[in-house]
Amino acid sequence: MGSEPNRAAVLRKRIHIQGIVQGVGFRPFVYELAVANQLAGWVRNSSEGVFIEVEGPVGGLEAFEADLINRRPVLAQVDRVQITDIPQQGTRDFVILESAQVTGEFVLVPPDIATCAECYNDFTDPANRRYRYPFTNCTNCGPRYTIIRDIPYDRPATTMVEFPMCADCQAEYENPADRRFHAQPNACAKCGPALTAPIERAHGWLREGKVVAIKGLGGFHLACDATNGDAVRRLRERKRRSDKPFAIMAPDLAAVERCCEVSPADREALVSPRRPIVILPRRTGTAISDAVAPGNKTVGVMLPYTPLHHLLFERDGGRFEALVMTSGNVSEEPIVSREEELPRLASLYDEVLAHNRKIQTRVDDSVVRTFEGQVRVVRRSRGFAPQPVRLAFDMAPALGAGGELKNTFCLTKQSYAILSQHIGDLENLETLEFFHETLTHMKRFYRIEPEVVGYDLHPGYLSTRAALEMQGVKKVGVQHHHAHIASCMAENGLQEKVIGVSFDGTGYGTDGQIWGGEFLVCDFLGFERCGHLRYVPLAGGDAAVREPWRMALSYARDAFGPDVPDQLFARIDPRRRAVVGAMLSRSVNTVLTSSCGRLFDAVASLIGLRDETNYEGQAAIELEALAEDGVEARYGFEMNGDEVDLRQAIAEIVADVRKGMGAGKIAAAFHNTVIAVIVEGCRRTRESHGLEKVCLSGGTFQNFYLLRRAVHGLRQAGFEVYLHSQVPANDGGIALGQAVIAAEAARR
Ligand code: ZN
Ligand code: ZN
Ligand code: FE
Repeated sequence: MGSEPNRAAVLRKRIHIQGIVQGVGFRPFVYELAVANQLAGWVRNSSEGVFIEVEGPVGGLEAFEADLINRRPVLAQVDRVQITDIPQQGTRDFVILESAQVTGEFVLVPPDIATCAECYNDFTDPANRRYRYPFTNCTNCGPRYTIIRDIPYDRPATTMVEFPMCADCQAEYENPADRRFHAQPNACAKCGPALTAPIERAHGWLREGKVVAIKGLGGFHLACDATNGDAVRRLRERKRRSDKPFAIMAPDLAAVERCCEVSPADREALVSPRRPIVILPRRTGTAISDAVAPGNKTVGVMLPYTPLHHLLFERDGGRFEALVMTSGNVSEEPIVSREEELPRLASLYDEVLAHNRKIQTRVDDSVVRTFEGQVRVVRRSRGFAPQPVRLAFDMAPALGAGGELKNTFCLTKQSYAILSQHIGDLENLETLEFFHETLTHMKRFYRIEPEVVGYDLHPGYLSTRAALEMQGVKKVGVQHHHAHIASCMAENGLQEKVIGVSFDGTGYGTDGQIWGGEFLVCDFLGFERCGHLRYVPLAGGDAAVREPWRMALSYARDAFGPDVPDQLFARIDPRRRAVVGAMLSRSVNTVLTSSCGRLFDAVASLIGLRDETNYEGQAAIELEALAEDGVEARYGFEMNGDEVDLRQAIAEIVADVRKGMGAGKIAAAFHNTVIAVIVEGCRRTRESHGLEKVCLSGGTFQNFYLLRRAVHGLRQAGFEVYLHSQVPANDGGIALGQAVIAAEAARR
C-alpha cells in the first residue's frame, strides 16, 4: 500500500471555478466549507470567475473539493473547475479577498432572484430589524442584473452605491458567517432605499379600484385589483388593449390553485427563484374578473418576487386574492423604469408607488409554460437574462441581431450563448434605443466584440438595418425559419443535419415571399426547403394580419375559384370585400405566403370566430381555445412535390360550417389536419433524406393542442423529436440561431 497518500500530509491547492459564481452566495459558501474542513487560504472574485487557494491535510481537501460541487448554492452554475497543486505556504486562516481587477476575460452576470425563504421570515418577523422592510435581500436573493453597472459585481459597481451602509448592515456585510456577507444590495430601513408612499396608502388605492404604477425590480408595473372587473376594464381602456391577456400576481400557491389548475411542474416553476409568469389553465367561476383574459382558457400567473410585492398583499382587512400586474409601458414601447419616464404613462395610472433605488437595466417579467414536465420559455427576461445558454461547442464571438417582433439579441463567446432580455417589438424609436443601449451594456459586461453578425433577410426590420450599419464585422443574412431551427438545434446540442418543421406567422423567404409553413433539411451551414404550405396571396400587408377575413377570402378563392359563395362573407362590408377581391384578382398590393399563422387566421374567420384581431396571434389563440378534446377527425390534403395543398380541407371546413357542425369540432379537426401535415411532411423528408431527428420551432408550436398531438404523432412514426425549452419557440428565440449560423459561415 506504498502508493496510498499520507492523509495527514499538508498540501496547498489552487482552484479556479468558472460559471455563475458571483452574486449567488458562492464566496460565503466557500468560506464556511473551508472553515468546516479546517483549511487555510483565501477566496477571491475576479472577472474570470472565482479563485480559491486552500491548504490543509489531504482528507480535508478531498472533502472540500467534493462539497464544493455537490453542495454548491442553489443558484450557482459551475461550468469549469481547474485544480492545481501549488507549494505550501503555512498560512493559518481562511480569508475572503477583495475582488481582483478586470483583465479582459469575462464572468457571467447573475440574473435577479426572488426573495428567499429566510429573507421572507426576516421581514415578516416583528422582532427582526427588517420587519416590513421592502428592500430586504441577502446573498441568496435580491436584485442583480437590474442594478449592476459594471463587473466585477461589487457594491460600488451597482446602483446601491448611493446608499452607504449603516453600522449594522456593514457588520453583516463584513461577517463571513452572516447570510448577508458581501450581499451587494444589503440594506435596511435606516440606510437603504425607501418607498415614496407608505404601503398602506397603496393598499387603499388598490381597494378603491385605482390603477397604481408600482416600481418593481426591472421596471414599473401597472397594478389593480384583479377581482374588480371595473378596475380591470378601466386599465384595458386606458392601455387601449381590448383583449390581450393581463398577467396577475397571486399572494401564494393556495391562491393560484383557487383560480387555476396547477400541475407539479407548474408549481415548481411558480416557486422557483426565477419566479416567472406561468401560463396556467383557468378555472371557471373564480373571484378573478373575466376581463383579465377574455376569450382565453389560460391566464398568466406569478407569485410575489420582492418583499414589496409580499407587502402589497399583507394588508389589514384581508389580502387581495390577486392583482393585475402588467408591464408599465405604452402599447409596444419598452417598460418604463425611471421616474423621469413616468409622464409617458400619465394617462394610464391614478397613483404611483415608487422607490429611490435606481434601475440600471430594464427587464420585463419572464413568461413560461410547462410541457411534458419541463419549463418552456415563452418570454425570456427577468430571472433568466443574462444567464447564458450552454452550447455543445465553442464559437467565435458572434451577434444574432434578432427579428422584429419580441426581439432579443444573442452574443456568443466560447460555448456560451448570452441572450438579451426581451427587448420588445422593434417598431418604434424607443425600442430601438433600448436595443442599442442593452447591446452596448452587454458587450461591455462580457467583453465581447463580435466578429460576425447574423441578421434576418427582411430588409425592413430595424434589427436588420442595425446589423447592416455595424462597422468592422462580417455580416451574414440568415433566413428566418433556418434561424428558428438552428436555435432549437443549438439548445439541444445538435450539429448534424435534421428535419426542421418551422411553422409561424411571418418570415421573409429567399424568394421574396412570406414564408411560415416550412419543412427544412438543415444544419448550421445551410438549409434546403423540402416542403411548404401552398402559396396563397396575402392582400394588403399588415392589414391582412389584423383582418383574418382577408386571408379567409384568399383561401376560399384558392379553393373555390374567384366566385366564392357570397354568404360566406355576409358579415363583411360588401365594398371592402370587393376591394380586397380586386386586389387578389389583379395581384395588386399582394405577396404570396405559405404562413401557417395566416392559415389559422383564415380558418378562424371561415368558421365565424374572428374577422379582426387586436393583438398578435389572437385568432390562432382563440381557435386553439375553441378546439374540443377527443376529436380524431381531420380534413383532406394533398402533397404534390414540395407543396402541401389544403384546398380540400378548406372546402370541407366550409361544408361543415354550412351543415351547422359545432365550431369546437371543426376547430379540432382543423388542428388535426395541420398535425397530419406535419407528420406526413416529416415522413416524406425522411424517405428522401434518411433523417430521423425532427426539430419543431416557430410561434405555431406555442399552440399546445397542436404541440401535444404533433409530438405524439411524430414519435409514433419513429422520429426523435426536439423542442425548445430554455429559448422561446417564437421570434424571441431566433437570435440564437442567427448567431450560430453566422459564426459557422464566418469560420468557413
Ligand atoms: Zn434572501
Ligand atoms: Zn442598514
Ligand atoms: Fe418566426
